[in-house]
Parts: sequence; C-alpha cells; structure tokens
Amino acid sequence: MIAAVKEPNMTTFRAKPPNHFDLPRRINRLGELAYNLWWTWNPNAQRLFNRIDNALWERLNHNPLRFLRQAGRFEINAAAQDSVYLELYDRVFRDFDAYLNETDTWCAREHSGNCKKSIAYFSMEFGLHETMPIYSGGLGVLAGDHLKEASDLGLPLAGIGLMYAEGYFSQRISEDGWQEAVNRPLNFDDLPVMPVLGKDGEPLKISVTFPDREVVAIIWELRVGRVPLYLLDTDLDENSPADRKLTERLYWSDIDLRIAQEILLGVGGVRAIRAMGCDPGVWHMNEGHAAFLTLERARELVAGGLTFKKAIAKTRAGNVFTTHTPVPAGNDEFPLWLIDKNLSNFWAELGLTRDEFVDLARHGQSWGETFSMPILALRHSDGRNAVSELHGHVSRRMWQFLWPDVRDVDEVPITSVTNGVHTATWMARRLRVLYDKYLGEDWLDRLDDPETWDRMDAIPEADLWAVHMHLKRKLAFYVLNRVRARWMGGGFHPVQAIASGAMLDPYVLTIGFSRRFATYKRASLIFSDLDRLHELVNRPNRPVQIIFAGKAHPADEPGKQLIQEVYRVVKKAENGGRLVFLEDYDINLARYLVQGVDVWMNNPRRPNEASGTSGMKAALNGVLNFSVLDGWWREAYNGENGWAIGPDADLDAVVSDDADADSLYDTLENEIIPLYYTERGANDLPVKWVVRMKESLRTITPLFSTRRMLKEYVGRLYLPAMK
Ligand SMILES: *Cc1c(COP(=O)(O)O)cnc(C)c1O
Repeated sequence: MIAAVKEPNMTTFRAKPPNHFDLPRRINRLGELAYNLWWTWNPNAQRLFNRIDNALWERLNHNPLRFLRQAGRFEINAAAQDSVYLELYDRVFRDFDAYLNETDTWCAREHSGNCKKSIAYFSMEFGLHETMPIYSGGLGVLAGDHLKEASDLGLPLAGIGLMYAEGYFSQRISEDGWQEAVNRPLNFDDLPVMPVLGKDGEPLKISVTFPDREVVAIIWELRVGRVPLYLLDTDLDENSPADRKLTERLYWSDIDLRIAQEILLGVGGVRAIRAMGCDPGVWHMNEGHAAFLTLERARELVAGGLTFKKAIAKTRAGNVFTTHTPVPAGNDEFPLWLIDKNLSNFWAELGLTRDEFVDLARHGQSWGETFSMPILALRHSDGRNAVSELHGHVSRRMWQFLWPDVRDVDEVPITSVTNGVHTATWMARRLRVLYDKYLGEDWLDRLDDPETWDRMDAIPEADLWAVHMHLKRKLAFYVLNRVRARWMGGGFHPVQAIASGAMLDPYVLTIGFSRRFATYKRASLIFSDLDRLHELVNRPNRPVQIIFAGKAHPADEPGKQLIQEVYRVVKKAENGGRLVFLEDYDINLARYLVQGVDVWMNNPRRPNEASGTSGMKAALNGVLNFSVLDGWWREAYNGENGWAIGPDADLDAVVSDDADADSLYDTLENEIIPLYYTERGANDLPVKWVVRMKESLRTITPLFSTRRMLKEYVGRLYLPAMK
C-alpha cells in the first residue's frame, strides 16, 4: 500500500509541472494533463486535445505541450465555451483526480501488509509514447507498459533510465531501399519532463566516479499516472564533450561509450535514488544493461565497513533480473581492457583485486575473455526470470554453466514470467466502446478475470466486424496521408509512393509484419518463393496485401541489407503495389498497424524470439496471429485462435527455413485466404473469420496483459525480494 511506505518513497512526485500555456481559466488544467502520460491511455483525455484542432494534433504527432502552445486562441476559446467540450473536460478531470487519489488500488487491497517497500525499475529504454523517442523496440515498449500497469495497480514503483538528447533515430528509406538514420535533437521544453530540484531550488546533481574523472548528471522526472520515471542526463557544461555524449543517443555502437552509459545507468541510477532520499526494497534490472547497480549497492555497504562478500550477500536478495533474449547481440559483454579503463577505481572501493573483480562476470568465449553483464546480474540477484515458458527453458540451458552443482537443467534457478501488454494503451477506442456496452463499463478493472470474457458471445458478430472494418479504413487513410505528405515534401520517387502504400485497399485481406529487422526474425522468409508469393498476392478475387515496417540498428549491416531486400521486392511492379514498406516504425505506427490489419505474422527462427509482444497488441484488437510457435505464441495458440507456422518441434530438431516457408505458404493458401474470402454471410460478413476473432480476443486479452504479468512479478519476484 502506497500510504504504508515510509516517506519519501519512490512514488512521491518531486518536480513541479510548469503551467505556461496561457489558457482560459475554465480549461486551465489541460496544462497539468499534458505533464502526465495518463492521458495517453485514456481516450477521453486524448479527445480533450484533438477536439480543439484535430489536424494540428495529428501534425504535432500528438504532443500536448506543443499543441497547447500552438493551437489557435480562437479554437481554444471556442472550446472553453462549448458545453459539450466542457462536459467532457469535467468528466476527464474527475477521472484523473480519482485515479491520482485512489486509495483502494489492487496493491492496497491485496498486499497492504506486505508491499511496504518500493520498487526501483531500471531500464536502458522506455517506450511510453511516440513523443518520447527514448526506446528502440520491444524491450523499451515492455518497460513503458510495465510502468503504466504498476500505476494502474497502485504499486509503489519508479522507473530509472536515461534521457537521450537525440532519442533513437528516425528512419528514411532511399529509393534503393537503403535505411538512412536521421538524428535530431529533442527539444526538452516540448516534452513532459521536469528537472528534479534540490533543496537550493537548483537541479539536483549526482555524480559517477570513473578512474580519471567525475561525470555529473541531473535527473528529469516524467509522470506516468501515479508512477514517476527518473531519467539521468549528462549534457551539462561541467562535463567534457565526450561525457556529454553519454546521454546523446540510445545504444551507441561504440563500446567505449556503451560501457560508460551502462555505468551511468547502474551506478548513477542508485546514486540518483539516494540523492532523492529513497531506500527501495526491490531493484529490478530490465535486461543486463543496469547490472552495475548490484556492485554500487554492495559498495555502499563496503563503505560502511562490510566486506564485499558480506555486502553482496546482504544486497542480492533485493535484486531482480529479467533476461530478454538468447541472442548474443542482446547480451552485452565487454572486453577486459575496457573494464580496466573504466572501472579500475571500482574494484579498490569494493576491496577486490582486479582478478577478483573480473571473476564476478568473467565469460570465456572462443575469441577471448569478456565481462558479461547478464552474468553479473544473474550471479548477484536472487530473483531471475525469463519472459516466456520456452524462453525460461532456453535460458536455464544457456546459463546452466553458472551453477555447476545443479545437474538437472530444470533446477537452474531462472523462472519465467511471460510478457504482456498494457491493454488500455494498445486497444482501439472503438473496441473499448463496444466492450463497455457488452462486457460492462468496468471490464477493464476485471481484465484478467476469465469470467469477464465469457460475455464475448453477447457481442453481435456484425458489430465486431464493423469496428474492425473501421480500423482497417483508418489505417489505409493514415497511410495515404503519410504518402501524400512525403510526396509533397519532394525528393520522393513515384515508385517510393507506391512502395509506401499509395495503392493500399482497405477491403483486401491485409497481413502486417512489423518489428526490428534483426536477421533471426527472418523478414524475407515469405520471399523464399517469389513466384508463389506473386501468384498468392494477385489472385483476381482474393488478393492479399502485406505491410512491412521496422528499423535495423544503424550499425547492423545485415539488418539493413534485409530491409533493402524486402524493399526491392516491394517495389516490383508485378506485385501490384500490394506489398508495402512503411518507413519509421514507432509506437504511433505500431498502434495503427496492430489495430488495422487482419493478420499479424511473425516468423522468427525458433527459439530466438524470447517472447514477442506485438502479436499480443494485435490479438487484443481482434487481429489474428499467424506465427512460429516460439515465445508467447507457443503458450497462447490453441488451434482455434490463429494459426501456427511450422511444427512445435523439439528444441533440438533442426527445422529448415524452407520447411517453415512451405508451411507459411500452405497455411496462407489453404486456410487463411479461403476463410477470409469465402463463407461470407449476410451483409458480406465473414462469419467464420469473426468466430476466430472472438476466440482470439477471449483467450488472449486477459492472459497476455501486463495486468496478469505484473501480478506475477509481485507475487513471485517482488514480494520475496522485499522479505
Ligand atoms: C510492440 C513493439 C515492438 C515489439 O515488437 P515484437 O514484434 O514483439 O518484437 C517493437 N517496436 C514497437 C514500436 C512496438 O510497439
């Protein structure tokens, strides 16, 4: 229970939102709303902005701060005098105040006695909204959803991360399909971040010690409902130009910058928490990037007189580590010379020799020895989890060597909590309205109760289909408007306009394939037989559209080549403009896609997709999944709620790309396309398709939500860590 946590706790807001928008008094609180991301998952709150001037709202990429500054005074004054608007305004602020002041939260009800300590949640990236581009993909979006759900459940949790001056890059695709990265400085005045101030009224500063220098950082606060996110920033005059770059971009490929960033996050994050006077009971590392926090916590106790051994033993119970991928590129490790260069002061402070220090995370690789961040985290946390059942199995196998006494791989102490998504963030407003009507207005409060979903049958098929078709048209219009804007911007070849969706048709079966372009995700699998694909896509009465989107890390050459390979096929005239590549995949585009396609396709090479979450976002909007039985889909698929690609083979069985591609084409041709186009009932309703949609909605929405996920984290990892 929040009230039971001793002040000051992690969830106390510290900064003060400015109100500098010069609004009419009657609607003055819009400025306050702009500084709390609560509005991003409450459609009525969004309408308070877009009802004033929808075109401007869209043009400003849903940024309420810029919007309130730029909206015409005439439109603002008109809203302040419009009774319908004011009624909505009053309702939204009643809800907002009730939410912020709620005492009867799930956490208070279920864990008032136990949940006495707060939780610090560390992550290199947070994907909360399109206006805050401090995320690159699934890991960040998961962290963002984690914060939103913690807020909804009333958990005393705060996020810790970095505030990047340029964020993650924007993607442009050249006529030849080559990804170009555009980095633009963010204007922090346009973002809902506020500096945390010290007692003297100046920004609170912390510092991190490197062997040859101190790096200073300030702390920004971002409000996510009831939960704060604290973001460190080193772009300060007192730092050298090189150190100012530590928070310039997410995921530098230069490993020298990268290790310093991770030291900043892990060590600096702990210091920021201390500077704010907090003493969390749980320290959760979302991936290994933050693992230096385990050493900083031990250092605090060593400074107080304990030996390192005792200090680690005392702190490890409070540490929780979540591993997110078996793919090497996602498991950071550093060559030992970098450890010497950046941490030689640290081992002395811990009372360790250099060798003892390196032993904490030494990883022997065929090409030499490294210092492994996941090993550092696994060794010094008592709570450890993977992000799906299959990934749990894979992780126990992968890290078994760290527990030489444990013979049985199933006994390796890494559990799993399957990922989920924040339902209110990802579900289309129209669908929520339909649920309000048929599942009861409070269905979102009863989200993870299966009984809520027994009422799915009450929803008329035609109504569900009408919502779906509305969302498909919305996606098509959005894509067309994007193409038009790019075209008018100049330098856009007509073939790029077609490749970007100028010929998209909302009445055609549409498949979405959007994710990071990492090679294990096999974006080009569907191109293995181009003749067959061409034939499938262009059947006269049963055409198919496929929409691709996704970024590759700027240093990932194979990833960029994959984008180019996809783009070159997309451009071919013989595919009739039915294959589309959309530039600059981000949270906004993801929302349109997961709400507005018919089928969500995912064909990673098993078992590399630890969980995957975009398919969950699609499923909760009535979009059917068509995926390899990897990660979350292996748990969710029941034969009736979507389709599988390839077999659920034994992990050691080698399933070739060709076999998966054959399965993909066969299922598309024999099951998916016929189900969509034939057996149409009255009013052209694809009856059996809608039955499958309902089965998917009913079985997936409650389970693959952050609601279920966070309750599991509390019960299985957070509460044990607090004890
Ligand atoms: C959900 C999401 C992801 C993760 O997608 P996966 O298919 O699970 O890898 C990546 N990027 C964005 C913008 C997302 O919204």
